[in-house]
Amino acid sequence: MLFNDTHSPEEVRSLVTRAMDTTPERVERALSATNASFSDFLALISPAAADFLEQLAARAQRITRERFGRIVRLYAPIYVSNECTNSCAYCGFNKGNEVRRITLTPEEVFEEARALWHEGFRDILLVSGEAPNKAPLSQLVEAARMLSRDFPSISVEIYPLETEGYVSLERAGVEGVTVFQETYDPELYTKYHLGGKKRDFDFRLATPDRIGAAGMRKIGLGALLGLGHWRFEAVSLAMHALYLQKTYWQTNVSISFPRIRAASGGFLPPSPVSDREMAQLAFALRLLIPDIGLTLSTRETAEFRDGITPICFTSTSAGSKTEPGGYTRPGEATEQFAIEDSRTPGEVAEAIRGMGLEPVWKDWDRAFIAAESMESLPKDAERMA
Ligand code: SF4
Repeated sequence: MLFNDTHSPEEVRSLVTRAMDTTPERVERALSATNASFSDFLALISPAAADFLEQLAARAQRITRERFGRIVRLYAPIYVSNECTNSCAYCGFNKGNEVRRITLTPEEVFEEARALWHEGFRDILLVSGEAPNKAPLSQLVEAARMLSRDFPSISVEIYPLETEGYVSLERAGVEGVTVFQETYDPELYTKYHLGGKKRDFDFRLATPDRIGAAGMRKIGLGALLGLGHWRFEAVSLAMHALYLQKTYWQTNVSISFPRIRAASGGFLPPSPVSDREMAQLAFALRLLIPDIGLTLSTRETAEFRDGITPICFTSTSAGSKTEPGGYTRPGEATEQFAIEDSRTPGEVAEAIRGMGLEPVWKDWDRAFIAAESMESLPKDAERMA
């Protein structure tokens, strides 16, 4: 069963079959709906809707401007550790790969963050492989605590934790957790997750529930595009996001669109997703869930990012390094994957302005929330400047 025992993979498959049978007339009806229903969403991800991509983009863009205005948030990842005890077939950090591995100390994370702070970033994402012995939660908590005075927005993308782990991160100043399910198809999941704790599909699937239960301000979802059939992942993602919004209404849910890139080990995506298919998915999600944040990373080319960002994306990374130490001592560790958009953060910001949008480095401050939450933050941490 998926999502709190309410949806099964069989149900998702039958909905995908319904989408595949959509007629052009049904797509037109879905495009003209004031508020897209789930049935409209199925029509919008159908093969028939691929011929209506321009109309779909126009609707998505109008909704994005109405709901979010003309802004795009900028963030950057800091890879804390590329140690990992898992064997994900598609990942360069797979424990079976011979790569240069590093785990940064909290002080070294601070130095990476300082480099990003000087680039203008106030929103960072701490990333780590699953190696609790080398990169324990206590170290991630310590790093977040050190950064929380200078970075109003800190998120993490790390191995799944129990609820208490998320509570301790939140108290250290973390406001969001991203956890990609990779694929919502349990059989494929088993096929591509060959060893380690990550093999547990159900534990991973329930992770956003634990994040929501911990009271985290943001939950980021995503499927690794290229593993399973994209329409199966689209239906599952949409259902998952709607379920989380309803269950943890105080938490913002967002969706990212990681597409498989070449990694150490030479993994090739079994179900490649084209630019048009990825665009169709993002546009359809915008119509179904108008308020949801959509995030695009530097995995994508500059040309594709510049074309699609103004239509429906609300957040994007820039100048990313995908290895620990990448901003202050590049080349010492192996990167997770090669990024496609190698522009500097300043160049990305300029490109966003060229789209008639405003790049936003900071849109949140912990001073906005209750005073008791601030008590756990450091009183005299070293500052960036
Ligand atoms: S995807 Fe994550 S968990 Fe899997 S091998 Fe890579 S770093 Fe480890």
